[in-house]
Amino acid sequence: MNPLNQTVKTSSFNTPQKTSPQKSTPISPRLTGRNRQPIALISVHGDPDVDIGREEAGGQNVYVRQVGEALAKLGWQVDMFTRKIHPDQPTIVQHSPHCRTIRLTAGPLEYIPRDELFEYLPEFVTAFQNFQAKEGTNYPLVHTNYWLSAWVGLQLKKYHNVQLVHTYHSLGQVKYQTVSNRPKIADTRLTVEKSILEQSNTVVATSPQEEEILRHTVSQNGHISVIPCGTNLENFHVISKSEARLKLGLDAHEPIILYVGRFDPRKGIETLVRACHQYQTAQNQPFKLMIAGGADPNKTDGQERQRIEGLVQELGLTKQTAFPGQLSHEILPFYYAAADVCVVPSHYEPFGLVAIEAMACGTPVIASNVGGLKFTVIPEETGLLVPPQDISGFANAINRILTDDIWTQKLRKQASVRVSENFSWAGVAIRLSDLYRRILAESIMDERLLPLSRSVINSEVAAIPVTTSTRKVS
Ligand code: UDP
Repeated sequence: MNPLNQTVKTSSFNTPQKTSPQKSTPISPRLTGRNRQPIALISVHGDPDVDIGREEAGGQNVYVRQVGEALAKLGWQVDMFTRKIHPDQPTIVQHSPHCRTIRLTAGPLEYIPRDELFEYLPEFVTAFQNFQAKEGTNYPLVHTNYWLSAWVGLQLKKYHNVQLVHTYHSLGQVKYQTVSNRPKIADTRLTVEKSILEQSNTVVATSPQEEEILRHTVSQNGHISVIPCGTNLENFHVISKSEARLKLGLDAHEPIILYVGRFDPRKGIETLVRACHQYQTAQNQPFKLMIAGGADPNKTDGQERQRIEGLVQELGLTKQTAFPGQLSHEILPFYYAAADVCVVPSHYEPFGLVAIEAMACGTPVIASNVGGLKFTVIPEETGLLVPPQDISGFANAINRILTDDIWTQKLRKQASVRVSENFSWAGVAIRLSDLYRRILAESIMDERLLPLSRSVINSEVAAIPVTTSTRKVS
């Protein structure tokens, strides 16, 4: 039942998959889930099965994996397609009985930065079509992630009766305002980002702020449905500060300022380091700055880490600063809980999973007043918002949170309540599921489309109530 004779393995989240060759294991008929409605999630550069927290692996990888697994629990057969970047990577990874990652070969089997991937996308489309043909599957609905996958989706729509849903994860129009060098691919990206909004069935904006930006900067046409990202509430939950510090071997009393994320100039780590320096100069109080996230010395994140380490040294903060490296989702809750404050100083942040992970653990967040952070962090209630790159603003906010114990106790409580009430992956999957179901039902009704069997709506999925609404602006 493994038509491509691919290597197959099973996995759990955050398990390193890249280096060891995997044994070939046949997929049992049960695992192919042929009695379920298949859907494809496409994430060309964001492999849902890699370690998170390094250059090309962040929120998008988490989103696709978590949404994929949660949708499978709701009754869908979920296949998540990504690009194979190493010959030893298994072609198929079975995460749960009805959810798998499928790695397609498109271009050389090596890491290629996302801005250089466009030329390999036609191969990705062909590999996807071959996979469908060999498995005898037609995915009636494809959910694409990031503009590269959007291009793939738009090509598939030309040749197949496929319904398209898209999540941007990052928007060229906004990103290019925050970088000094526009890459060569910029114009192509902007064109694709406009086409996908106008031609997909629905674009999923992860915050009302993203919807507004899309309308103002990308297009007035097309459907947008606002469905925020989520977090794993079983994993990210309140732990007492003392327990977390004991577990991590950290001082029980020293104030801890935490950053978690990739090393990328747009994440604004420099602003945080400079703000900590200003705080120290003004207050002369002890503190520890922890900057967590992976970096490969041979890639751009390694260069950014080196730059940040240089700055830490230059500002005389070496003793106060720790770089714990890439942290797994198993250990991260302890870091969040051990911290007095988590800082998300991004220049631009479409959603920002780190902010809700920290708040779920009861840690107040100081974030830049941008994108999805304006939606997730409620100023004065779950943390504070500061204009991006405002060093004094961040220094003052850090000072406020580290010096007012009674107020921060309130923030801690309100932060965890905000997340548990509003941001769970299970809730996100229910809303996406409703959306897919509605789109598929509409496609069946539409006489202009090729006839689709009504059996495409799996009975388990059909049992879920529809609550998501979309609008069309022209
Ligand atoms: N992350 C991680 N380990 C690290 C650093 C980050 O698991 O060492 C995860 C973090 O928990 C979050 C994701 O990477 O789930 C980052 O997502 P976010 O949306 O904050 O930023 P992005 O990477 O998408 O820009």
